Amino acid sequence: MIRVTVWNENIHEKEMENVAKIYPKGIHGTIAEALRQCPDLEVREATLDMPYQGLSDEVLANTDVLIWWGHCGHHLVDDALVERIRSRVWGGMGFIALHSAHMSKPFRTLMGTPCTLRWRDGDFERLWVVDPQHPIARGLGEYIELEEEEMYGEPFGISNPDDVVFMGWFSGGEVFRSGCTFRRGAGKIFYFQPGHETCPIYHHPQIQQILRNAVHWAAPADGVGSEPTCPCAIPSPEAVRKHKDA
Ligand code: ZN
Repeated sequence: MIRVTVWNENIHEKEMENVAKIYPKGIHGTIAEALRQCPDLEVREATLDMPYQGLSDEVLANTDVLIWWGHCGHHLVDDALVERIRSRVWGGMGFIALHSAHMSKPFRTLMGTPCTLRWRDGDFERLWVVDPQHPIARGLGEYIELEEEEMYGEPFGISNPDDVVFMGWFSGGEVFRSGCTFRRGAGKIFYFQPGHETCPIYHHPQIQQILRNAVHWAAPADGVGSEPTCPCAIPSPEAVRKHKDA
């Protein structure tokens, strides 16, 4: 089983009627439901207003892939928690940062770059699948049309991604690297742009497919270990071999 925690700040849903209407169970609830269609995923929901901001030591220690949606609550996330997330990603936990999580503390810490972009509300987006062979693009067509989405435009202040799986084109003329993968330590990271809170993006069947694909891609093959260290390499493998022969 892959243990997934869908972590959401859950603030807009409580404060904005139009968002609550689109996501009555919260953005996390809709995403969790989409993931539960896969029998090999064990899905937990966590929100910032829960004890330990939703991610106690116990929860994090039992998470193989962490999904994070955050926007207006970035500054509320404890720095010590950010450090624990960074450490666990280096140990192998998958991390999926959604939409405005580009400016979140965990994502910026893992990137080590500003992660800035330009934005504007209310564009049409055509999300191009630019790497159709990538596991995260499995089962999709050439592109996905999103009638309304917040425009995120280049330049996107990330480190060079390992793969660009999706490229967004917006009706205002901008383009954006909308789906990017990275590795940090033993952990795999996926950033995915669609998901503005006032648009019903996470109800879209193909967006849900992308999230399921991304969780399977980001899951560590051999579980999550501790952070990599710098062990002394004495005795050397050759010394061990010669000792065996002697
Ligand atoms: Zn947004």
